[in-house]
Amino acid sequence: MTGMNKVERKERIIGRLRHGADLLEEITGLCKQKGIRLGWISGLGAAQKARIGYYDQNSKQYEYIELDQHLEITNLTGNVSIRDGAPVVHAHINLADSSGRAYGGHLAPGTIVFACELSIEVLDGAVPEKKFDQETGLALWPIE
Ligand code: ZN
Repeated sequence: MTGMNKVERKERIIGRLRHGADLLEEITGLCKQKGIRLGWISGLGAAQKARIGYYDQNSKQYEYIELDQHLEITNLTGNVSIRDGAPVVHAHINLADSSGRAYGGHLAPGTIVFACELSIEVLDGAVPEKKFDQETGLALWPIE
């Protein structure tokens, strides 16, 4: 495996996000406010509605799915790193509807918090700077 760096756990912060906030923007804002440049995120809760992305590997474009319904956030996993000098959050989310059916994808702006308990593991070490990757068409951590 290449491009793997050793990092140290610095601290863990936990808290609840505001009802009605945009989930991705709220987490990104929190990282900027707290000066978090490297970290791993996990969370759970519920969303008033959601917008998730699916990356089409052929067209190298995101397609967005709008879920205009109340949903459980059954899992939220993401990371914090740096792009263009500022903290950027990359997160994926699993959501379940009233019948327990699950949806999942790349967390996009437009996912609105009903309730969300969040944990951010703040890490210390070389911060990977996201760069455009020719092979995938995505902004990704570099491989040395
Ligand atoms: Zn993604």
